[in-house]
Amino acid sequence: MNDCVFCRILNKEIPSQFIYEDDFCFAINDINPKAKKHILVIPKAHIESLNEVEDLNLIKNLFSAIKKINKQENIKEFKTLINTGKSAGQEVFHLHIHILAN
Ligand code: AMP
Ligand code: ZN
Repeated sequence: MNDCVFCRILNKEIPSQFIYEDDFCFAINDINPKAKKHILVIPKAHIESLNEVEDLNLIKNLFSAIKKINKQENIKEFKTLINTGKSAGQEVFHLHIHILAN
């Protein structure tokens, strides 16, 4: 999706530093952090939101990545958040999980 900010980051059309990457997802620091550490874990596949997820293995893979990222970043206490839909606060319509830690 060439108008999707996360697809553009993945395709290196927008500069961003990956703090983690594997076959199915990558992670970046949120540009507008709402906690001391605010990381976004983003599947490489363009999936608009949680409502469009068909293969639940994707969720398992994302949480498995979160465990690795938290270990790497020395995060032990944290919140995870998925906004789904405009009225719930979703701004970027490419599925992502927020990790928030203070
Ligand atoms: P959401 O409101 O759940 O859709 O979250 C979208 C998040 O993406 C927000 O917290 C934004 O600050 C963040 N964001 C938007 N553009 C970028 C970018 N280029 N790099 C990093 N984070 C971004
Ligand atoms: Zn996308």
